[in-house]
Amino acid sequence: MEQLEILHKASDLINKATRVLFLTSAGMSADSNIPTFRDKNGYWRNFPPFKKKNLEAQDLASPWAFRNELPHAWAFYEWRRRNAQENQPHEGYRIINKWLQDRDGFIHTTNTDGLHLRSGCPEDRILEVHGSMWRLQCLDTCTYQFWEDLSVPLCDLDTASMKASNYPVCRNCRGIARPHILMFGDGEYSGHPEQEGSFKRFLQEPVDLTILVGSSGAVPTNDYIALHFMERGVPVININLDPSSNRIVNTDYFLAMKGKEAFMELDRITGVD
Ligand SMILES: [Zn+2]
Repeated sequence: MEQLEILHKASDLINKATRVLFLTSAGMSADSNIPTFRDKNGYWRNFPPFKKKNLEAQDLASPWAFRNELPHAWAFYEWRRRNAQENQPHEGYRIINKWLQDRDGFIHTTNTDGLHLRSGCPEDRILEVHGSMWRLQCLDTCTYQFWEDLSVPLCDLDTASMKASNYPVCRNCRGIARPHILMFGDGEYSGHPEQEGSFKRFLQEPVDLTILVGSSGAVPTNDYIALHFMERGVPVININLDPSSNRIVNTDYFLAMKGKEAFMELDRITGVD
């Protein structure tokens, strides 16, 4: 099928759908200038001090780093919080929220930048499955509590050395706090029972469309959820600039487009049809 034909078929599916599951990943927020860190060159360019010490993103995004390289670990997240705050959720987020008003739907996101919630999506219609950089928990999990902290800056940050200081502390034991994010090699992420409960409730009734956006082969969590539904006859629209991203779901409704661009086109066509 030609891209234009797929766009029209996808718009048709969206107009008919009554229960939609949105599966959003890194490619969705990339259009809001949130770096993905899968591109190693970009990562090293942003953080020369990490290059010198050969600390890769997955090394810093770990409970190990918060115990052994604390100034660098918090610097990495402090930088990301500042970057996310400087950038705005793009038009695609607003369009998803608009579609959620007309029909039942749910957002399952692997992104931790909080852009869906910031764009105003309903709090009971989202699972940030890998957590959020805008929430904190105790590094030593003295309790499984977590709390919101939207302050920017949160730590002091020396960008030349990429070292942070003046760390946030646990509200309960006053020890070091860490992001409420599922990191690499992380058995201590406390999860979000409320959001998880909302997702379970959404799945109690049939889903008639899933829209997969910006998934990366490195973390295919959302691809496998889409595949699960596709094997049960639910159509999947896959929006991704990278054609190899259609490898797992292999759907006919593959749009080789940026997330923002695809949602704007789909919104235009669904409005006309
Ligand atoms: Zn604590």
